[in-house]
Amino acid sequence: MIVRILGCHGSELITTDSRGRPHECKACGFLVNGTCMVDAGSITGSLVQSEQDKIRNVLLSHAHFDHIKGVPLLADNMVGRTHGTPINIWGLPEVVHLVRQHIFNGEIYPDFARLPTVEIAPLTFQPFLDEKPIQLDGIEAVPVRVNHSVPAVGFLIRDEKTAFLYSGDTAETRRIWELGKEERRLKAAFIETSFPNDLKDVAKASGHLTPETLRGELVKLGRPDVPVYIYHLKPSYLKRIKTDLNALRLPNLHLLEEGQVITL
Ligand SMILES: [Zn+2]
Ligand SMILES: [Zn+2]
Repeated sequence: MIVRILGCHGSELITTDSRGRPHECKACGFLVNGTCMVDAGSITGSLVQSEQDKIRNVLLSHAHFDHIKGVPLLADNMVGRTHGTPINIWGLPEVVHLVRQHIFNGEIYPDFARLPTVEIAPLTFQPFLDEKPIQLDGIEAVPVRVNHSVPAVGFLIRDEKTAFLYSGDTAETRRIWELGKEERRLKAAFIETSFPNDLKDVAKASGHLTPETLRGELVKLGRPDVPVYIYHLKPSYLKRIKTDLNALRLPNLHLLEEGQVITL
């Protein structure tokens, strides 16, 4: 599988990299095999039209704005271009309900599951159930409930040979690590870490990890053989989170960057 990182931060901000050059932190959006988005924080600002045309499925981990904001503009770009096979927008039933009620409600944005006409509407909404695998264009995704401030899942995504885990937004949790631990094909784990250690109260209240709580989750996962890609850092706290992550001294830990392509 090929995972292209369109955005991997917990918000958007222009920062400077280690050489003092500007860097654009974008909200989370991972493109798998060119056809399936895992979260939709970044889509349209990162892909040309021919790349957007190839997207067949969008998996939403939860309804928070930084994970769904690419969907309305993708829909807008795709009007008249889906040729009777609309893009599947997948989420927990409560997530599908929230996105339809609060975004595609005819007031914030048109209902692109019905408009401009039912025949050429660019989107269709597909609820999924916890731990029930869904088949998508050569890959299988298993949504697994995680512990966030709103209903949320992470995903185990696999084909015949490889698998990776995507934590979504989560504080300390259990089930997804159990499934990851058992998965023999597991080649990578993408795990959120949103706040520095000294903001642990903020992390706890908002349902996120710090480097310190991440350490405990990695023990539960129990797969030191697998590279762990850290994402969803809040851009305002980048330096402090990186310092805390380095202090963990874990050789399999990597920080994700926008534009990275990971081949599994
Ligand atoms: Zn988020
Ligand atoms: Zn969230």
